Amino acid sequence: GDAFLSVRDLYVRFATEDGVVKAVDGLSFELERGRTLGIVGESGSGKSVTNLAVLGLHDPRTTEIRGEIRLDGQELTRAPERTLEKLRGHKMAMIFQDSLTALSPYYTVGRQIAEPYRKHTGASRREAWDRAIEMLEKVGIPNPKLRVRDYPHQFSGGMRQRAMIAMALVCDPDLLIADEPTTALDVTVQAQILDLLKDLQQEFGSAIILITHDLGVVSNTADDLLVMYAGRAVERGTVREVLRSPQHPYTWGLLGSMPRLTSAVDEPLNPIPGAPPSLLAPPPGCPFHPRCAYPAEVEGDRCATERPTLPAGRGAACHLAADRNQTIFTEQIKPR
Ligand code: SF4
Ligand code: MG
Repeated sequence: GDAFLSVRDLYVRFATEDGVVKAVDGLSFELERGRTLGIVGESGSGKSVTNLAVLGLHDPRTTEIRGEIRLDGQELTRAPERTLEKLRGHKMAMIFQDSLTALSPYYTVGRQIAEPYRKHTGASRREAWDRAIEMLEKVGIPNPKLRVRDYPHQFSGGMRQRAMIAMALVCDPDLLIADEPTTALDVTVQAQILDLLKDLQQEFGSAIILITHDLGVVSNTADDLLVMYAGRAVERGTVREVLRSPQHPYTWGLLGSMPRLTSAVDEPLNPIPGAPPSLLAPPPGCPFHPRCAYPAEVEGDRCATERPTLPAGRGAACHLAADRNQTIFTEQIKPR
């Protein structure tokens, strides 16, 4: 297709001392301008690795990437670092969980917003400084003309996250990747930051990838949802479809353990019994089968031997979901 961002059959492998980690194992998805794709999964599901691959931020000495990543028609997996560097900040930008590592302690917040703007647009120092003030205002920093001279440690955690958003958006990127952007914040501030992202998306028209382990974060923010498990996409649909009638047993587990935006931030996401498999030696068949309660519902031992595929569009990579009428299936078996 001619989607703005298209990822086709992506494989990411790392060489480690213990062997080769299959971090992403045949992933495909698309994203249009102006839409938000939530990528949800436990840590180690491959969601962050996927996006580092999109940004070209993986370590080429230890990482092998196969497949195709196209941004606005341009293939990225084979693009030279010089090209990627130009694209980052200008066409794509990122927001991370930890603003303290993303912002330098040695420069004023204003300088850290103004510099990338100057670099990418050739604006004068004065123009770039004014632009930094304007961006701080847009992200809701009070007294932006004064605060623009502050250092990051003079900002609260929520304000630093806002400053990082200002820094990411200053060059008007077409794609914004936000990796757990609110995880470190308390719940009230989380909701404010997510609202801010939505508002700014309206204004800037960017495509957003929102990576999170928390379905509560995507439920009000994303349009489409990709649920990842063990380096694979296991369910896909609009947020509405997935939250209203989840089809994959792993998604049921996530929903059952969904922390609310109103709960304590550090409440552990729990809950599906067992742990994700080692990606050094992923289990055969469905990667979720060691933790799944439903293999007995599927004929034979297909769950343990045959890899379920994710259909294009709405669907789940699950033999059970594929076998049965979805409506009846969901009502009869869904444990909630
Ligand atoms: Fe469970 Fe089998 Fe579906 Fe995997 S394919 S999620 S093991 S029922
Ligand atoms: Mg991560």
